[in-house]
Amino acid sequence: MSTATRTRGESYAAWVAKAAKQPMALEAVDLGPLGAEDVEVAVEHCGVCHSDLSILNNEWAISQYPAILGHEVVGRVTAVAPNAKRLTVGQRVGVGWFSGSCMHCRQCMSGSHHLCPEVQPTIIGHRGGFATHIRSHWAWVFPLPESLNFADAGPLLCGGITVFAPLIMYAKPIDRVGIIGIGGLGHMAVKFAAACGYDVTAFTASESQFDEAKGFGAHHAVSTKDSAAVRKLAGHFDLLISTVDAKLDWDAMIGTLAPNGRLHLVGAVLEPIPVAAFSLILQQRSVSGSPTGSPVAIETMLDLASRHNISPQTEHFPMSKINDAFARLEAGKAHYRIVLDADF
Ligand SMILES: [Zn+2]
Ligand SMILES: [Zn+2]
Repeated sequence: MSTATRTRGESYAAWVAKAAKQPMALEAVDLGPLGAEDVEVAVEHCGVCHSDLSILNNEWAISQYPAILGHEVVGRVTAVAPNAKRLTVGQRVGVGWFSGSCMHCRQCMSGSHHLCPEVQPTIIGHRGGFATHIRSHWAWVFPLPESLNFADAGPLLCGGITVFAPLIMYAKPIDRVGIIGIGGLGHMAVKFAAACGYDVTAFTASESQFDEAKGFGAHHAVSTKDSAAVRKLAGHFDLLISTVDAKLDWDAMIGTLAPNGRLHLVGAVLEPIPVAAFSLILQQRSVSGSPTGSPVAIETMLDLASRHNISPQTEHFPMSKINDAFARLEAGKAHYRIVLDADF
């Protein structure tokens, strides 16, 4: 066991959002005593995920201010509480969308901690990673494989697992998989899907992205706006993963599913998706969704990423430019994920 060497309140700082849609400001933070099962991590890099922006702007009406955002953390362990397991001071680790769960409910006991009714999102009612330090329950602090590209690994811990989990839940290596939307999430989905050996089609709204999508490993690229090309793919896909948050011709997309095919949603499209019962019933198709993934799925994803050198495509900003980085994300200019490098 190791304990914190810091005294309470000393030299902890964070970028704090005081209210919705306001710029974040650097402030000293008092983290208080370390929880008995918690681990403290000095943040080195933290990705900016679209959900950080959604929480900053209170788009889902669940934000709690003051908020410390950031949930794609890469850093080093600085303190391990007496009842925390398996981690040691100095170890390189990651923390993602969740940073705690009850550890005793049916979901936690069966390995699906991410479905725990008491699961703790890292940036809602908890201090996130745009800070000198973050704290998390030990089960949600992930040792990073040595060969991983640490500076760019942050986005794997939220965006990466979000698209990896449905791939390993639902696709077999012989399957045809379509990824809808080639942005922050979608480009990682293409990279994972290609590494897993599926036949991969990238659906994007812009034909100018075709070459880049193929560079990420897609075998085919199709424009979601080309309804003739989409219709031509009728009955084709075993799994479609949608990462978009905008309205699509959902009926046409479901029509591209093979018998037993599945449309799986990870993009938070706020408008309801109309589904005709017969298009599911006759071909035994399904529509589903999932949040991030379990701790074991996250470790499996990190292992695969290190073995296949899968890194998100990133742009780096010093953390002191956090408000500029958020403005760039909000303007839709991020190429493809933004990572902030700690510079306190
Ligand atoms: Zn995220
Ligand atoms: Zn639980």
